[in-house]
Amino acid sequence: MSILDSMIEFNQRFVEEKKYEQYQTTKFPDKKLVILTCMDTRLTHLLPNALNVKNGDAKIIKNAGAVISHPFGSIMRSILVALYELKADEVCIIGHHGCGMAGLKSSSIIDKVTERGIEKETLETLRFAGVDIENWLTGFDKVEDNVAHSVDMVRNHPLIPEDTPVHGLVICPETGKLDVVVNGYKE
Ligand code: ZN
Repeated sequence: MSILDSMIEFNQRFVEEKKYEQYQTTKFPDKKLVILTCMDTRLTHLLPNALNVKNGDAKIIKNAGAVISHPFGSIMRSILVALYELKADEVCIIGHHGCGMAGLKSSSIIDKVTERGIEKETLETLRFAGVDIENWLTGFDKVEDNVAHSVDMVRNHPLIPEDTPVHGLVICPETGKLDVVVNGYKE
């Protein structure tokens, strides 16, 4: 059975047996938190459990590396929506050790792209159109620096209220241990 079929089959039972009841909450985060973190599979359950973030407690935004690459991109927009429309009051940026974005070189992805049959001309066309593919597909050197940079981006964003705490944290994907990089109350 394919992954999709098995998900759909499971889902039918889930709904029929009303297993959703235990998850019912509202769209407003009870802890008034918005968290940006990484899509790493190890963090799916570990991160909320290690932080005592229950279902309904926080808006959780995820991408590769918990990176905010543009002040007017979709991540920053999601943070603004959480703060202004969904009653969040504080922002947590949570990177993690052993992140796939740490040390990622664009050449690694570009090699695989061409191996999978994307024509080199396509890449050239994108570069000619002004897309900085190399920069866009490059990760970061040090997780703490990336977290601090993302905190700065939010902290200094023209649409973020001055009294909004923005915290920077790094979590261990094995133990769940959290280290504070930036304490948003002290900034
Ligand atoms: Zn990661």
